[in-house]
Formats: sequence, structure tokens, C-alpha cells
Amino acid sequence: MNNLERRKIIVNGTVQGVGFRPFIFRLASELKISGHIQNTKDGVEIEAESTSKNLTQFIGRISEEAPPLARIQEISANEIQTTGEKMFSILSSIAGSIAQSFPPPDIAPCADCMSELRDPTDRRYRYPFINCTNCGPRYSIINGLPYDRPTTTMHEFPLCPECEIEYRDSMNRRFHAQPVACDICGPELWLEIKDGERIPGSRSIDRCVDLLNRGMIVAIKGIGGFHLACDATSDEAVLKLRQRKLRDEKPFAIMVGSIESARLVCEISSIEERLLLSPERPIVILRAVESSPISKHIAPNNRNIGLMLPSSPLHNLLFDEERFLVMTSANISDEPIIFKNDEARKKLGAIADAILMHEREIVTRIDDSIARAIGDRPLIIRRARGYTPSPIRLQFEMPPILATGADLKGAICVTKGRNAILSQHLGDLEHEEASISFEDAIDHMTSLFDIKPQIIAHDMHPDYFSSRFATSNSIHAKSRIAIQHHHAHLASCMAENDLPNERVLGIILDGSGYGLDSTVWGGEILVANYEQFERAARFLPITMPGGDAASREPWRMAISQLHACGFDIDTIAKALPKISKEKIDALIQIIERKINSPLTSSCGRIFDGIAAITGIRMINRFEGQAAMELEQCCDTTSAHSPYGYTIDKSNGLLEIDLSHMITTIASDVQSKLQIGSIGARFHSTIISALVDATILAIANTGLKMNSVVLSGGCFQNEILTIGLRKRLEESGFKVYTHSLVPANDGGIALGQAAIAAHGKNSF
Ligand code: ZN
Ligand code: ZN
Ligand code: FE
Repeated sequence: MNNLERRKIIVNGTVQGVGFRPFIFRLASELKISGHIQNTKDGVEIEAESTSKNLTQFIGRISEEAPPLARIQEISANEIQTTGEKMFSILSSIAGSIAQSFPPPDIAPCADCMSELRDPTDRRYRYPFINCTNCGPRYSIINGLPYDRPTTTMHEFPLCPECEIEYRDSMNRRFHAQPVACDICGPELWLEIKDGERIPGSRSIDRCVDLLNRGMIVAIKGIGGFHLACDATSDEAVLKLRQRKLRDEKPFAIMVGSIESARLVCEISSIEERLLLSPERPIVILRAVESSPISKHIAPNNRNIGLMLPSSPLHNLLFDEERFLVMTSANISDEPIIFKNDEARKKLGAIADAILMHEREIVTRIDDSIARAIGDRPLIIRRARGYTPSPIRLQFEMPPILATGADLKGAICVTKGRNAILSQHLGDLEHEEASISFEDAIDHMTSLFDIKPQIIAHDMHPDYFSSRFATSNSIHAKSRIAIQHHHAHLASCMAENDLPNERVLGIILDGSGYGLDSTVWGGEILVANYEQFERAARFLPITMPGGDAASREPWRMAISQLHACGFDIDTIAKALPKISKEKIDALIQIIERKINSPLTSSCGRIFDGIAAITGIRMINRFEGQAAMELEQCCDTTSAHSPYGYTIDKSNGLLEIDLSHMITTIASDVQSKLQIGSIGARFHSTIISALVDATILAIANTGLKMNSVVLSGGCFQNEILTIGLRKRLEESGFKVYTHSLVPANDGGIALGQAAIAAHGKNSF
């Protein structure tokens, strides 16, 4: 044959550790293509030689038939000189040269591995570490790139002859599956009981289940760290766990063995079912059913339950019989998840009655992700296992950037070319342990992706740990840029939706963020692109008496709201019968004397105040609790008209004044109107006011803008998000919301990176 041609094909994206090379090998054999495949600094490089027709087919089928976990971002093909090569081969990776290829996230067992796990004739029957190229741990066990067995924590386990054959056989499902192992060669599992007994191997699972059945608490090593497990149907076990873990009301997540078991606990829509069964296996927030067998202490005062299906083969083995288990991150209070065996022994001794652990080391601790459905779309609330480090592809090139995010929901972002890589959720950076995790994440990600940041982007808040770290000398870079919190939220939503650098309107609603005018922002309408922003509207600021204490204690915001409406102490006392007159009086003094009482336009604080006025919640036991309960109480069976509000212009800035609404709500509560309809009318008011303000803001600017982005933690609220989207769409706007990037501060770092990439700042 002399009509042969040769192409150099370069593929970028998540193409390592997902069975990509064997896939190409098989495709090449089928299409009679010779050449080779190799990981190089430009991504995966393929040289392919065959007839023009075969080559065209080959290139087409690469994207069409790529393995399930591969994410191809770009394919390019160039004609090169033929060499007359006769075979197709897989060349070994060039060490340290991975530029545009990303290691995959940790993925739950695939269907093939699951059926082997349950097949008594299979040699991996009930083997807790079964995996293949389509599933298994990845990011959590990788020390470096390229992703090959020597750079993972599996390097300590030399393959046995049988595993070796599978690993080397290009037609096998385990060809180059780096964590491949079996009972003979793989890591060992054992159970350590408090009294010193050690039960090795598969018997450890039976004993673990036996302890759980008897109401004990067992720490279990998962993919990204340890969980604490106990029987979720036992009040006694759940209360014991709450007490030992020092956790009073924050909900515990539960794990069940199948979607059928999940239906006994929660209502599940089709989008929620897809999330539960997705290979990422997040915790999904679901509406609990009345007849649920789950203890009411799992999620006190909460109509929802966080539920997940098993994310590892080991977890699957706990569910031979139908069982409902609490599966909560093993940590003390809000510290990061414990992920080392020694640390588990040391720190969990007082909490767990036994520890089920194994020898496969975790390099990167990584929590369970949390998702919920907002209408028919998924929203990731906590981005971690299963999603990290999947890159977010932007439409512009970026210099190497490190963005340090915000503090309460720490997460960093690094950039490479057109890719932004968000770290896993790192926790509240105020905790020392979390701040160590934050520094580890910076070290790990910059070295893993070989990034030397030219720009460091951080929040403007001078007291954030993440800002202080960015401005200290701990890390070197050519330049640093401070970015306003809500501009970063807006840019994060633009970036996730792949929007170009054109002006949009952003409705940004969250708890709090450092403003430019010495007030606390949090309910803003901005006009912005990636380069600059200006404020077009906000909620009329009110005081936050006691500063941060007002975020933890909604009753303070209620008094502030009522005081701003002109209520005197007696009328406030009548409106808030659960709060003593002395407390009210003291707080009014604080407000009037302006003692530690910053002004805020925060939407989160508006929700807090209304939750207290409606008697739903006076004190938050965890962040966002009052707002969540206010959302859950709403009557959603019929439409509810908004209360009154006004929008005025002051110094060019539109201000939404809700005092009419607050006065009416206070009187509706006293008239004993249904809380469900008050809550629904409140949401309807916020939505109407924001739509009106948006339309007025556009008229004010004189600009033609049609795109509105919605970002900030308040957009975890389904009623608000769906209602606002619908009304804005009815008014002719194109609305963009978050989905795979959190709307809360966990998504901030992406926005900071996108802004830093455009290199300007407006103030
Ligand atoms: Zn598999
Ligand atoms: Zn083996
Ligand atoms: Fe925020």
C-alpha cells in the first residue's frame, strides 16, 4: 500500500487514568492503524498511520466513543511524514511533562466491578478494593503526575501474577488501571476494637456490621477520609454520636445500600435519582418522607435529609441486608475530615467504639460532596469527592494564577491555560486544622499541576486568613490582586457558564462580604464584566447589632429590622415574645449608640431577621439554619402575592426598602396568620423587589443588557432561585445560575481567578 498517511493527534482534557490509552489501542487495532500513543507535555499524543479514510474514522470515533470517565476538551490533528511503522504501541509516559492533562476524580464502583464484587465465582468476590479503569480512587491517592502506579499510594503493593496479566493486557478492563489489586496482592483491611482486639480481613466487615447492629459507633475509612457510622434508625446511637462528636443540631448524612432503600426515607425525583446514582456519588439533600424509619435526631427541625449511596466497594459490603447508617465525616466539631490511620487512632478513640481501617494511604483528604436539585437542575453545594479536580474550561487563556477564595467555605483555584481547577472544599479556615489543609492544598495543587503562580488573587477582606496568606511572603508571585467578594461571586457564575468578557447584570445575594464603603455587603445588584464592576442597587442597609454575633443570632436582626421600621421597645417586645424585654432594651442601646453595629445590605441577614419575627428560629446552631427553616416552612401549593416595598435612588444607587413588608409580617404573625403563607409571601416580595430593581438598574445605566447572573449562598434556596429565574425570564432576560460550582463562598476562588486573568481592577 502506498496511499498511507500519518497524523499527529493531540488530545487534551481528562484523558489519564480513565482507560484512554487502552481505548485508543483497541480502536487502532480495529481500524488497522499503526503508530503509538504517549503522554507528553502537550497532552496525550497519538501518531497514527493508515489510509486517509481510516484516519478520518479514527479521529471521529475518539470523541464519540471515549471511555465514560474521559473528558476530551480539544483534539487537533496534523499531517506528518509516514514512517512505515507496522504495529500500534503504547509508549510509557514522559515523567513530569503533563501540561494539559488532568488526573480524574475519585469515582464510585462501576456496574462491571459491582457484579464481580457480588459473584461468588469471581476471584474478587467481596474484595473491598475492587476497581478498574472505569472506576475507583484517583485524585485522593495521587502523589504526582503523570498518573501511573508509582505516583500513587498503590506503589507499595506489587501486583501478583494474575493482576499483572490484567494490568498488561490491552484488551482487559484493568489495563493500566493504576489502583488494580486483589486479595493476594492488595492492601489489607482490618477492624480495631477499643479493647485492643484486631480482626483481620473479610471477617472484619461482618464484625463491623455486628457492632453497628448493636448500637456502637464505628469509624470507617472511606475514599477521602474516615466517616463515623452508626445505626441511623436508633435514637440512642444517634444521640450518643451527637454527644461524643460535640454536634448539637447540624444534620448527619446517611448512607443506604440502594435506591430502593433510599425511597423508604426520602422522596426522590428523577434528577435527584440521577445525582444519587452518578459516579460522583454526592450526598443529595432530599425531602424526608413521613413514614421514614430514620431517627428524628438525624436532622432535628429539618424536613430534609442528606443521603448518599455507597461510594466505594468497602461501603457496599456494609449493605448485604437493608440497613440505614449515619455516615458523617470523622472529625471533632467542624475540623477537617481525619484521613490518616494514626490520626484516626489518636483522635477518634473517644468517639468510636471501633475503627475499620486499611493500608491504602490517602494522599489528599477529601470530603463527600453535597448536591441538591433546584427545580430540574443540579446544584453542587459542597464540591469535593467525585468532582475535584475536574477542570472548568473557560473561553480565555489565563496566566498561571492562584486564587485563595474566602474563609468560611475555603477552596482555592489554580489556572493552567484555559482551565481553572477548583480545589476540594477545605472547611472553615478559622480552624487551625483547616488552615493547614489550605496550605497543603496550595502546595499539592501547584506541584501536581506544575503551576508557578504569576498572580495571586484574594478577597479584599483584610482579616480573612486566605487574604493574609496571599499578602504574606509565604508564596511568591509577580503580582497580587484584591478582589471584591461579590464581584468574585458574579465572575464565578459567568465563568461557570462560559460567558465572554461582556457586561452583565449580577444579582448577588449572600451572608456577608467586605464592601468598598465600610459597610458589609450581601444583597447587591452589580453591573460587571471580568474587568470591573459597579453597584447598581442594594437592599437598604440596616445595622447588625453585635457584628458577627448577629449572624449567629437571628433575633438580633429581627430587633434591628423592627427598630428600623420605627417600632418602640414595647411593640418590639410584643412582636418577639420569645425574647426578654431586658435583652431587647440592651440591643436597642447598642444600635442607637452604634456600638459594634456595622451596616449591612446582606440578604442572608434579612432572612435571619424574618425567621426570628415569624418565631421559626432565634439562634443558628449552624450556618444558614434560620434561612433554611424559613424556606422549608413555606406553603408552595399556591401562588402568594408580595408584600409592599419601595425602591428609591440615593446618590445614584437604587435602594430596596423592605420596611413595609417587615411591619406587615410582624402584624400578620400577631394575627396568627399561617406561617407557611407568610414565608411564601416573604419570598415573593424579595423576588418582586429584585426584578423591579433589575429593570430600573438597566434603565439607569442606559446600557443594553439582557444577561443576568445569580450568585451567592442565598441561591441554594430553591424557592428564591426558581421564582427569580422565572420572573426574570418572563421579563425577557437570559438568566444564568450555578450548577457544578457552588453558589456559596466555595465557588469564590473561580471568580477571583477569572477576574485576575483580566488583570484590571476598577477601584
Ligand atoms: Zn470498575
Ligand atoms: Zn493481585
Ligand atoms: Fe459570599
